[in-house]
Amino acid sequence: MSSSLSPNANNGETVRRDRILSSKLYFDVPSSKVPVIYSSSYDISFLGIEKLHPFDSKKWGRVCQFLIAAGVLRKDQIIEPLEAKKNDLLVVHPESYLNSLKNSSNVAKIIEVPPVALFPHCVVKEKVQRPFRNQVGGSILAGKVAKEKGWAINVGGGFHHCSAEQGGGFCVYADISLCIHYAFVQLNISRVMIIDLDAHQGNGHEMDFAHDRRVYILDMFNPGIYPFDYEARRCIDQKVEVVSGTTTSEYLKKLDEALEVAATSYDPELIVYNAGTDILDGDPLGLLKISAEGIAKRDEKVFRFARARNIPIVMLTSGGYMKSSAKVIADSIENLSKQRLIDTESSPDRM
Ligand SMILES: [Zn+2]
Repeated sequence: MSSSLSPNANNGETVRRDRILSSKLYFDVPSSKVPVIYSSSYDISFLGIEKLHPFDSKKWGRVCQFLIAAGVLRKDQIIEPLEAKKNDLLVVHPESYLNSLKNSSNVAKIIEVPPVALFPHCVVKEKVQRPFRNQVGGSILAGKVAKEKGWAINVGGGFHHCSAEQGGGFCVYADISLCIHYAFVQLNISRVMIIDLDAHQGNGHEMDFAHDRRVYILDMFNPGIYPFDYEARRCIDQKVEVVSGTTTSEYLKKLDEALEVAATSYDPELIVYNAGTDILDGDPLGLLKISAEGIAKRDEKVFRFARARNIPIVMLTSGGYMKSSAKVIADSIENLSKQRLIDTESSPDRM
């Protein structure tokens, strides 16, 4: 299709642009919907194997059940995204990386569930990769919805350890990088801020946007846990370390200061908020001591920061897979609604 055959970066950009423009992932959402994105295909159930990993593999669906039970929204108001297909994933991932996922033992390593290596690729693809691809479709669509409505929450995604070239730490696809590249092309956006408040360092997006001035990264993470990626740490614009045992009040104070610095450092047109809940007290991976109320306060601060400045915000739920995580996330979203930082009343469709 491209008229230029020169093997340079420009050509790569053209190919990327063509892929994005031919994607089906950005579709028009009826006004009867609220900007909460989820599909039942997000949830993983795999012959009981999901129980081997210390996580709730149905967290995403349970968040929605809690939201519906609390009357925050109705089931029919939720936006169901499309699955990201190969052409979509190729927007950031090289074909060699996607081919490497045809080997079950590679996928098993990335998601840290060794028995997955014993299953044929067709099973792993259907039972593990497909749920993730649906969540990726949700993260990408969230960019469009946020631009239109001011905010969007993908009740999934936030795979911040995966870069274009490499997966790891339960992250198979680089949904954050994909969301941002779609926004560059489809939404004509050229300044994005990533606010990554998952307990772990977001080394995936950090490697992907290492020398890209279009992206400002604020990462607040525990330096004493996975992934210890010192190369990626150099790519963080504002690095805030929260050591093991950090309490709620210390955490929220550091967040206030960090947001103040971010406000004077960069003027984004879109915020991607990676809202992992593995900072919760008792989380076996995050090792921080933040209360459930502290997490609601954290989310409130980030939404207030974005909404006060009229910057569209995408929230991704990312890490945090204790049985209690789903309720913590749902309660926090309910709080955002109570604080009028998000509006979950849909407007009636007009014919
Ligand atoms: Zn994490």
